[in-house]
Amino acid sequence: MLTSKALLAAARRPGLRRVVTGTPVTRRVVDRFVAGETLPEVLDVVTTLTGQGLAVTLDHLGEDVTDRREAQRTRDAYLAALDGLAPLQLGRRAEVSVKLSAFGQALPVGGDDVALQLVRPVVEAASALGTTVTLDMEESRTVDSTLGVLAELRRDHPGTGAVLQAMLHRTEDDARTLATPGSRVRLVKGAYREPAGVAHQEKAAVDAAYARCLQTLVRGDGYPMAGTHDPALIARFLELVTETGRTPDSYEFQLLYGIRPDEQTRLAAAGHTVRAYVPYGADWYGYFMRRLAERPANLQFFLRSLATR
Ligand code: FAD
Repeated sequence: MLTSKALLAAARRPGLRRVVTGTPVTRRVVDRFVAGETLPEVLDVVTTLTGQGLAVTLDHLGEDVTDRREAQRTRDAYLAALDGLAPLQLGRRAEVSVKLSAFGQALPVGGDDVALQLVRPVVEAASALGTTVTLDMEESRTVDSTLGVLAELRRDHPGTGAVLQAMLHRTEDDARTLATPGSRVRLVKGAYREPAGVAHQEKAAVDAAYARCLQTLVRGDGYPMAGTHDPALIARFLELVTETGRTPDSYEFQLLYGIRPDEQTRLAAAGHTVRAYVPYGADWYGYFMRRLAERPANLQFFLRSLATR
């Protein structure tokens, strides 16, 4: 049986990428987690989800670009997405999430500067639409660089969002540092394979760290965004926002497109802001493999559909 570690390692292997993406049946399974390959397709999904009372954050799939031209294409894809969102007039109900590795962060020379330079116009275009950008968090070795880019962007656009991964030992400190007025922080468990030196390895330890960081963020002065499907942590978030007297415009839930959709609409109907993270685009391999690694049921669904093709 494939383990989650093997799947996470596979998410970074180009050889396996060709095998998985070349299997026609994969498409059906991918459709459950990815909202289409093109902008018109994802805009249709945005219309449906916002019609159900949800907010959205769009993720144009792609990561780990290896040259500047590819990074410029990422910038252009996000600018096109924001252009596409403009006529829908959703304001903050539709924002975008970006991975800096798709903006050139990992280029051998000056990656941070390239990423900052290319992501800035996206942040400016989002501001012009009355909305924001959130910087997804990737492998632990990129956290300092991503938080550095965030700090630069926040000088002019203080609503730019951060993501913290509860699995990392450093995150409790980062949560304290970022729990300041106007600071938007999405807390997630963390989707990458990390060594014991930097990250909790057991699920129970990650969950406990998540609960501690959540408390810091909700009791702090920022805008906490709970990025989880975990019923126990969703319940804890609700307790904390009630206990601290937060109003529904001062926090939000975030869940991935296609995961627990009934819970997403249930929470929204109860008056909470719920944002679906909606990935789209042709480069879905890394994202898809991380979803398979997360949950045996997702992997079984994939393997069953291969067996019944
Ligand atoms: P898990 O421990 O995976 O699941 C806990 C419980 O949730 C399960 O026991 C089950 O009850 C329920 N559950 C989970 N999945 C399902 C399902 N498919 N169907 C039914 N019930 C389910 N990671 C990053 O590293 N960087 C990011 O920038 C990032 N952004 C994210 C943005 C959002 C909005 C979300 C929701 C996640 C993001 N992640 C990110 C991924 C995150 O780190 C986790 O890998 C992912 O959310 C799985 O963790 P979980 O909190 O849902 O809990």
